[in-house]
Amino acid sequence: MKFPTICHKCLVEQGTASFIDLDFQDDGIYTSVCEKGHESLVCLQEELFQILFEHGAMALLDGYQREAVSSFASSLERFYEFSIKVLLLHRGVPMEEIQNTWKLVAAQSERQLGAFYFLFASQFGFAPNPVAQQWVKFRNDVIHKGHIPSRDKVLGYAEHLYNYMVSLLKVLKEDFQESFLTAITHKQKNPQLIEAQKEGNITFVGLSPMLDMMSASFGTKTFGEALEALRVNKDVLYPK
Ligand SMILES: [Zn+2]
Repeated sequence: MKFPTICHKCLVEQGTASFIDLDFQDDGIYTSVCEKGHESLVCLQEELFQILFEHGAMALLDGYQREAVSSFASSLERFYEFSIKVLLLHRGVPMEEIQNTWKLVAAQSERQLGAFYFLFASQFGFAPNPVAQQWVKFRNDVIHKGHIPSRDKVLGYAEHLYNYMVSLLKVLKEDFQESFLTAITHKQKNPQLIEAQKEGNITFVGLSPMLDMMSASFGTKTFGEALEALRVNKDVLYPK
């Protein structure tokens, strides 16, 4: 799956943009080379859980149900990671120490989920709602048992996760504005990126994910409406 960006140098030199399609990767910082050989950095501003959810929706629209479930499930795991960061930043833990702690559980998703539950309870004084058990089982059947799900089932799973994440994101965004902002802008502090910025050799790309759970209007679109908007716009948003 690719996303479009433009060559900043072409734009400066000749006043017209040349377009480059980049393959998604997971750290958000890319090197692009245009047809003229200009090399520049590209910073994709979306969080990984947003990108993964969009991947899931694209797979679903293209008819790959198992792959859709895999991406939606990964999105949820990265969403827990993001939420843990926001909650810890709010407690005054520096990002560097959050990352050092994360390394201790990086390969163990059950421990990450436990960390999220207890951090949530510690912050709010009550237990978080979990993802509904039927959908946990559904995910495990698909990922671990080779179950091939129906399209309707995948739609139900995706809609449940979408609503689950949106409701938690609303709380995080409203109650912890400062740490939320720190979490979503952290990748811009990458030294390579700061250097490129000094040289004016960087393009910041903000996509318009149709299933964007963090946009200003998140929660105003139902999952079905957001998915339909993606179906209509996907060829422009994500060139093949
Ligand atoms: Zn160029």
